[in-house]
Amino acid sequence: MKIEILEKKKNRLSFLLKDSSVHFANALRRTIINEVPTMAIEDVEFRKNSSALYDEMVAHRLGLIPLKTDLKSYELPAECSCKAEGCAKCQVVGSLKVKDVKAPRMVLASEMKFKDPAIKPVYQDMPIVLLLKNQELEFEATAVLGKGKEHSKWIPAHIFYKYLPNIEIGKDIENPEEIAAVCPVDVFEVKSKKLAIKDLYACHLCGACVDASEGKVKLNEKDTDFIFYMEPFGQLDSEEIVNKAIDIIDSQLDELDSQL
Ligand SMILES: [Zn+2]
Repeated sequence: MKIEILEKKKNRLSFLLKDSSVHFANALRRTIINEVPTMAIEDVEFRKNSSALYDEMVAHRLGLIPLKTDLKSYELPAECSCKAEGCAKCQVVGSLKVKDVKAPRMVLASEMKFKDPAIKPVYQDMPIVLLLKNQELEFEATAVLGKGKEHSKWIPAHIFYKYLPNIEIGKDIENPEEIAAVCPVDVFEVKSKKLAIKDLYACHLCGACVDASEGKVKLNEKDTDFIFYMEPFGQLDSEEIVNKAIDIIDSQLDELDSQL
C-alpha cells in the first residue's frame, strides 16, 4: 500500500491511496469519523441567561464550537484513572461572563476562557448569542474528549473518497473539442488536435465523454486506488487525524488478534 499526497493546505488534504482495497479505504474513513477523539463542550451550568435563547439552545450551540484539541495531555473520560468522575486529565472548564450591555452586541466564542490556555475555540469569531441592552449571559462549561460515533460534535473532519478513474482514449476520435467541452469537470484538453487528459483526479465518472465519443473513450474505475479528500474542522490537523486513525485501527486489530 502506498500513500501519495496530492494537495496539502491548512484546512484541506487530498491524497491517493494506492494498491489497497475498498475495505481498508472505508475502514480508514469510518475510523476518522467515528473513533478519532476531539474536545467539545459537554456540560454547561448557567448562572445567568436573559438572552432570547433558552439555556438548552445556548448549550447546544456551545457544544458545536470546535475546540483546539491536545490529544497528548487529555484522556477519554471512560479511559481516565478517575473512572469518568472528572479530573484535570479528562476535562477542562471554561467560563464566560457578559453583563452591563449598553447596546445590542454579539457574544463571541473568543470571550470564553478555559483554565488550560491550550484549549480554545478554533474560530474565535463564532457567534454564540446576540445580547440586547441590559441582557446578561454567564456560564461555566465543561469540555471533554469524545468520539464522533456518540455525537457529531466530536467528528474531527469531513472526509470522503472516490475510486481513481481509468480513462482510455481510443483512436480515430473525430470530435475532440466536443468531448473536452462536454466534460463538466474539465478532465480533458485538446493537444495538437488530439484528445488528452489534463486533470485525471477531477473525474467523477459521469460518463459524458463516453456518450459524446460514442464509446471511443472508455471509462472505468481502478478498484485498488482511491482519492481521499479531507477537510479538518480545526480541532486537530490533518496529519494528526490520519496518524491517530491508523493507531486506532492498529490497536483494534491487536485486540481482535488477542481475542482469537
Ligand atoms: Zn479523569
